[in-house]
Amino acid sequence: MPHPESVEPGPARTALLNVRVLDGRRLTEPCTVVIDGGVIAPDNGTSGARTVDGSGMTLLPGLIDAHVHLHGPDTLARLASHGVTTALDMATWPPQLLAALRRVPDLTDIRSAGTPAIGAGGPHARIPGMAHDAIVRRPQEAGEFVAAQVSAGADYIKIVVEAPGEGGPDRETIDALVAAARTHGRKTVAHAATAGAYTMALDAGVDHVTHIPLDRLLEPGEIARMAGQGQVCIPTLTMMEGTAAARGNATAYRTARRNLAALHAAGVPILAGTDANTQPGVPFQVAHGESLHHELELLVDAGLTPAEALHSATALTARHFGLDDRGAITPGLRADLVLVDGDPLTDIRATRALHRIWCAGIEVTPAAVRTCRPEEAS
Ligand SMILES: [Zn+2]
Repeated sequence: MPHPESVEPGPARTALLNVRVLDGRRLTEPCTVVIDGGVIAPDNGTSGARTVDGSGMTLLPGLIDAHVHLHGPDTLARLASHGVTTALDMATWPPQLLAALRRVPDLTDIRSAGTPAIGAGGPHARIPGMAHDAIVRRPQEAGEFVAAQVSAGADYIKIVVEAPGEGGPDRETIDALVAAARTHGRKTVAHAATAGAYTMALDAGVDHVTHIPLDRLLEPGEIARMAGQGQVCIPTLTMMEGTAAARGNATAYRTARRNLAALHAAGVPILAGTDANTQPGVPFQVAHGESLHHELELLVDAGLTPAEALHSATALTARHFGLDDRGAITPGLRADLVLVDGDPLTDIRATRALHRIWCAGIEVTPAAVRTCRPEEAS
């Protein structure tokens, strides 16, 4: 056993040899990628570097989950150990908890909406422990709500949209929230889990819509409008599948899947997000980390190619959330990297064969990825 003081720090450089690299929509020939400190090195010099042989393996940019809920450092550790090196939180409070989870060196890097804007009468108002300042009753309260979130560090503003008459904020209040967010240079993310809520979110011109309707097929005109307005979809198929199963209604998930396929075919950008949470009182609890691998499989099942699904969990999400320092394996970007056995462009399930993971150049021990398909309710 070495004494702690005798442990030498490892070399600053790590060279990954013979790896095939995901480059946009294709894999390169086997090559060398060097990690230097927290970034991908501009040169491939291996002298003095620790080496890792990646023969037969694929190097992916660190995965990004575009819809999670955070509950503490354990959540971040679980995400990191499954190759999810960036997570976009879609509602966590109080601000002190979020502040403690930001920029933790060897864990998943986060962005967050902070507290979501909800109506007084919808299902979210009944979630146990919901933040008391989440309810926005009228347009006049929107400016103060958004300013409070921004000053608490919110990176974007989450609005829980329900179908008209179902207890969410009314249309005028949503419009005022969107306008206030723009004033502060923040994008808006609308929770919309029904077709009626989708219509509201499209009408209000939110930037991103998360979830996808289980209750009916979207109209061709709605799909064309979403594409034309440049709005982005984070469908959370894992959550929709789990919700449909919890209701014993497999048909509902087939509706969600068809909606996703239609949005994708129309050119709406699709981002991989799971709605990972351990929150009591929600329809389905989604395991952090392993669920993103399931989401990739569901996206492929719904008609995306494996390359498109991986793009939706890396570069495309980085672009739509303004994360310019990650999402690709390019010199100078963060060394958020996932080395997997096999070729996920041939079989998306290969992302589960995690071999090595780095969060900003710091190596993290991979977890065994379990399956998280829900049981159908009887
Ligand atoms: Zn959520």
